[in-house]
Amino acid sequence: MAKNTKKAEEPVRKNGLFEYAPAPESPAAAGDIATSYGHFIGGEFVDSSGSEALKTVNPATEQVLAEFAQGTEEDVDRAVAAARKAFTDWSALPGSERAKYLFRIARIIQERSRELAVLESIDNGKPIRETRDVDLPLVAAHFFYYAGWADKLDFAGYGSNPRPLGVAGQVIPWNFPLLMLAWKIAPALATGNTVVLKPAETTPLTALRFAEICRQAGLPKGVVNIVTGDGRTGAALTSHPDVNKVAFTGSTPVGRAIAKQLAGTRKKLSLELGGKAANIVFDDAPIDQAVEGIVNGIFFNQGHVCCAGSRLLVQESVQDEVLDALKRRMDSLRVGDPLDKNTDIGAINSAAQLARITELTAAGEAEGAERWSPACELPGAGFWFRPTLFTGVSQAHRIAREEIFGPVLSVLTFRTPTEAVEKANNTPYGLSAGVWTEKGSRILWMANQLKAGVVWANTFNKFDPTSPFGGYKESGYGREGGRHGLEAYLDV
Ligand code: NAD
Repeated sequence: MAKNTKKAEEPVRKNGLFEYAPAPESPAAAGDIATSYGHFIGGEFVDSSGSEALKTVNPATEQVLAEFAQGTEEDVDRAVAAARKAFTDWSALPGSERAKYLFRIARIIQERSRELAVLESIDNGKPIRETRDVDLPLVAAHFFYYAGWADKLDFAGYGSNPRPLGVAGQVIPWNFPLLMLAWKIAPALATGNTVVLKPAETTPLTALRFAEICRQAGLPKGVVNIVTGDGRTGAALTSHPDVNKVAFTGSTPVGRAIAKQLAGTRKKLSLELGGKAANIVFDDAPIDQAVEGIVNGIFFNQGHVCCAGSRLLVQESVQDEVLDALKRRMDSLRVGDPLDKNTDIGAINSAAQLARITELTAAGEAEGAERWSPACELPGAGFWFRPTLFTGVSQAHRIAREEIFGPVLSVLTFRTPTEAVEKANNTPYGLSAGVWTEKGSRILWMANQLKAGVVWANTFNKFDPTSPFGGYKESGYGREGGRHGLEAYLDV
């Protein structure tokens, strides 16, 4: 009998594991993206007074998604005037009435969360798994949370009948576009302020879609205004004389420039800036759990996270064990199409950010650190960077001191808890830290010693609207989230 020589098709395997079948989300779920956008001022979509337009691209394909206006000083002026006009009635509304609008916005965000998650992934490059499961639930949660405060401000600890500040000028970065918008707009509105918000120039689309949601919610005109553009538009907003409060999230150099600009004025300022967090693993830590936390700490959102655990401090006695397990885990990370539900690491947000990561990692090698990445294929078009690990890093290396803001981990070692604290605090930043150990007393001792706004114990990158977030030192000042987040928008 003739033997059947045809072999069954071999399943694709990597490292002995079956490959995942693609599970693509539909880009059409993002809804209609216009070819060009103006600003959202006084409840209307309006053209810019200038003619300059910028383009936003899909970082995973480099395709242009839309053009949007480069806001001029005149545009900013119009938006601030609209916010000022709306302030009179908005601030006079009873808190319970303001809350109704915020609850409505929160519910619409939930209803439209798939659309917003897909749009965010397309504009930002972050994996749909994260926009769907992290960004969007947190965005809605922020609006729900601050809606709850709107009629309880008398009990927030700032005296009875605390007053809003007026018009808030808010400037946000590109790493969590809609979430940073929520962090800014929800507490501002709950406390009776009106806002002009400028999204980042590489990710304006979800903020413009949010403008539609404000209309859908029937928010009074002028309470929220969105002006797009780059740093010039941002500077026009933060320096505008009729803005009472400036809230900025972004890089430390720009934060420093804004602080100088505002010195001597009566504007209230909060700054959420960069970070270089230590993720500290002790020898008694549950290693597998710690490895998951290390991966989440630095590879979540491509490492474009201000509080990323970008410095791993591992106790010398478990260094080999941790690094072996970490490399095995990194080997299983899937880098690629952000709209594939299996993707762990999406695209780098822009060519400029990719160039910065490339430059800093080259400096790491030049300074003598040892570089390792898993073998993984990267897509042809778009901006990509392999998850990367540096060992043999000293505290003087640039990769241990400067914020890389990409999927790059620098590994240092320590022997004693005191040495871990000294190394962790040896940074100009102070936004977050992680501690992995079985000892509760050590967690409390470390949390007291670490100069960081947030210390996570046996977990990392956990966010909740009820919990204040903010930095020490060059990571900024002021707190967002929780009851503390109300203070930034109240005349206390
Ligand atoms: P960036 O400072 O370059 O830009 C942030 C925003 O500021 C953008 O909207 C930009 O257009 C605007 N801007 C630029 N120059 C300005 C100026 N002179 N005046 C006013 N606005 C100006 O930062 P980025 O590269 O977009 O974001 C990455 C940085 O943001 C990282 O350092 C990161 O750590 C930080 N970040 C911090 C937090 C936090 O909560 N601490 C959260 C997210 C990001």
